[in-house]
Amino acid sequence: MKALKDLPVEEARARMLAAVSPGMAETVALDRHALGRVLAEPIRAVRDQPPFDASAMDGYAIRLGDGAARFRVIGESAAGHPFAGEVGAGEAVRIFTGAEAPSGCTVVVQERARREGDQVSFEGVLPGERTNVRLRAGDFAAGDVLLPAGVRLDAWRLALAAAAGRAEAKLHPQPRVAVISTGEEIVPAGTADIRPAQIFDSNGPSLATLVGQWGGRPIRLPPARDDEEAIAGAIAAVEAELIVTVGGASVGDYDLVKPALKRLGLELEVETIRLRPGKPTWFGRLADGRCVLGLPGNPASGLVAAELFLRPLLAAWQGADPALRLEHARLAEPLRETGPREHWMRAKLTRDGEGVLHATPFSDQDSSLVSVFAAADALLRRPAGAGSTGVGDVVEVLRLDRL
Ligand code: AMP
Ligand code: MG
Repeated sequence: MKALKDLPVEEARARMLAAVSPGMAETVALDRHALGRVLAEPIRAVRDQPPFDASAMDGYAIRLGDGAARFRVIGESAAGHPFAGEVGAGEAVRIFTGAEAPSGCTVVVQERARREGDQVSFEGVLPGERTNVRLRAGDFAAGDVLLPAGVRLDAWRLALAAAAGRAEAKLHPQPRVAVISTGEEIVPAGTADIRPAQIFDSNGPSLATLVGQWGGRPIRLPPARDDEEAIAGAIAAVEAELIVTVGGASVGDYDLVKPALKRLGLELEVETIRLRPGKPTWFGRLADGRCVLGLPGNPASGLVAAELFLRPLLAAWQGADPALRLEHARLAEPLRETGPREHWMRAKLTRDGEGVLHATPFSDQDSSLVSVFAAADALLRRPAGAGSTGVGDVVEVLRLDRL
């Protein structure tokens, strides 16, 4: 019998990641619809960039080395319309930015040129060899890997792919992720006749948004009551690679999500985690292979667990690196020793005049506080069993993607 309870955070994450692998790659146009998606193949350069020696300035292309001070203008090289001939001693070609620089030439900027008819001379000393010339393949060369597989596309990387002439590429598919809140008391925001005993669903919309932000395709299901049949029924037919349930994750009389999903053949991989907040977070697979991530209902618990597990899961599903991107910061307030669970505290980040990052944990870390999460910049990691930590000590932080 595998031990599934009270797993360290790392081990819980490793068990979850072992359950996922990217699906079949699909060919996708490299336009804004590819934003945030992950390359399933490397993008290679099929030719040099620039493809020819190009002028970086408007001016005159001349050949150095023959001591001439005046040059006869024999033609023009403009972008898209190169000069066809050779430039000899005492000759110049009028040239513009981005135009092909005739072989062996240097470009003198037009601000220094004195033009009289077909003659041109220049103020000051002539520049050195190949000045103001962008050499062929100076940006990249044919055959170079410009973007390796596993890279997430953004506007800058799309520019590189386009510069290489690529209009489409094989991308990993985006996992479909269903999000379902559970609880007798949970009603959708906007419900007009809400009763005093009811609570608006804050996790549903935030988790669905995070799924989209992290590259998945969110599917929002209506909240389910604490009823095994209702929960199993809502999840039975959802077409998704991953189902995220919210609430009912613990061991109370009304924590029915796991018992409900036993009806669909749930096999647990992770039962509880040595994590604060978020101890009841669990993970398993249904008989049909769909994965389920069970999050606790308290908003901070759910969002901490989403950052620590859902985000890496979505990355792995898309063939991207699932590692948490931790940074270092200096603690701005002393902290007492932590207990046996790894603690992820909501914190503000500030940068001082020297550029050093400082983290200030919120004084109230109660896991029900949506207001604190909405104001936080980062999660501050306190390892399980960490001793008291003083002002200025270095701590690890996980920055939240705030816009
Ligand atoms: P549970 O995990 O079901 O025991 O819920 C723990 C606490 O979180 C309770 O106070 C719930 O009312 C609250 N809660 C559960 N689900 C949600 C939700 N989707 N949005 C906001 N609060 C929730
Ligand atoms: Mg509940």
